[in-house]
Amino acid sequence: DAFLGAIDALNPRINAFITVDGQGARAAAAEADRRRAAGEAGALLGVPVAIKDLFCTEGVRTTAASRILQHFVPPYESGVTARMKRDGAVFLGKTNLDEFAMGSSNLTSAFGPVENPWKRRGDDAVLVPGGSSGGSAAAVAAGLAPGATGTDTGGSIRQPAAFCGITGIKPTYGRCSRWGTIAFASSLDQAGPMARTVEDCAILLGSMAGFDLLDSTSADVPVPDYRAACGANPRGLRIGIPKEYHADGLPAEIEALWRQGIEWLRDAGCEIVDVSLPHTKYGLATYYIVAPAECSSNLARYDGVRFGERVPGEDLIELYERTRAAGFGEEVKRRILIGTYVLSAGYYDAYYLKAQKVRSLILRDFTEAFGRVDALLTPTAPSAAFAAGQKFDDPIKMYLNDVFTVPASMAGVPGISVPAGLDASGLPLGLQLLGPHFGEERLFSLGAALE
Ligand code: GLN
Repeated sequence: DAFLGAIDALNPRINAFITVDGQGARAAAAEADRRRAAGEAGALLGVPVAIKDLFCTEGVRTTAASRILQHFVPPYESGVTARMKRDGAVFLGKTNLDEFAMGSSNLTSAFGPVENPWKRRGDDAVLVPGGSSGGSAAAVAAGLAPGATGTDTGGSIRQPAAFCGITGIKPTYGRCSRWGTIAFASSLDQAGPMARTVEDCAILLGSMAGFDLLDSTSADVPVPDYRAACGANPRGLRIGIPKEYHADGLPAEIEALWRQGIEWLRDAGCEIVDVSLPHTKYGLATYYIVAPAECSSNLARYDGVRFGERVPGEDLIELYERTRAAGFGEEVKRRILIGTYVLSAGYYDAYYLKAQKVRSLILRDFTEAFGRVDALLTPTAPSAAFAAGQKFDDPIKMYLNDVFTVPASMAGVPGISVPAGLDASGLPLGLQLLGPHFGEERLFSLGAALE
């Protein structure tokens, strides 16, 4: 009731939720009470959480923040949310995002932008919460939910966590089931938790993670006790500082935050080592080929015939054209166009195939680095939250915001963003820790040391 009340009071301004399910939440809470009274245990028994509106929830509208799915009510539950329900979680509602998770600002949602609960000191300008899981990040930061789910394809958990002063982890690719999570770029998409503390994220991930037969890329690897990992002493771990992340034009404040993080980990008994990830500079360029390519293929299913919105036409082709013209926003259309271009017969080798080769080199950089160090420390994003009113005539400017998060996505390795202080105007900044495949426990231990 407290969280539903807070949502009533603040959501009209923050717009973190697309759908609030008060009735469902109350029923789930009553059921959790009954289970508790019956002596049943559950990692999330009675815990209210917000669900990014990219996870299909049975009987509850799931929009992906797109007009094309504005009335879509899934007849089934996603793998991740099914596990959370099994453990007794209470879903408060579905949170806002960039349309189909394509963006870094939440400005591309068909349901309107999300307001970051933080403001610059002495300045009333509305700031973006980051994206694409901006609704989840803003909901947690504003106290509308103690935890939330997000998805991260190129940074969509880590960057909004940093912009809103909370914690978020993108697990190893394959750690959480993709079954029933609306697909953007299937070889990159990965679900993960967002919460106020590292330990809360650990508790949530313990419920969300695990093998799922229904997802052919799901990893059949046991789920460790992530909560216990938060208490593990990171003393003696070797932390790599990748020199290529000292990007040109990186603000002095971000460099200073990074140095501070290095000191904190040194104080915690870690050994700091310089490392090189030489292909980092190709991360963004290859991501913005691979992700649109997969998106163009995944979004072909929205044809106005099987489900979602339909705009009738004279014939089938016209029906497709009108449906997709009316249903998709500008950024989604841009990505479909880029994706079909790089996959087309004349350009496949030059763009898509080349990008896949470079992706292997990016993975090799990480594999070599993790032969020498236990984890890497970098800033999460090259800036604090920016103003919602800022004009982005050039989409490349927006893409540049993902420079530090995208390489780990290309390599499939896990990354956590932990709040690490405020910039000169009082806005939160995040530090990112990256680990080897299935090295989430180490990230929880190191993340807790940074808190
Ligand atoms: N900002 C990146 C993009 O626009 C990443 C999005 C995501 O991780 N879903 O593609």
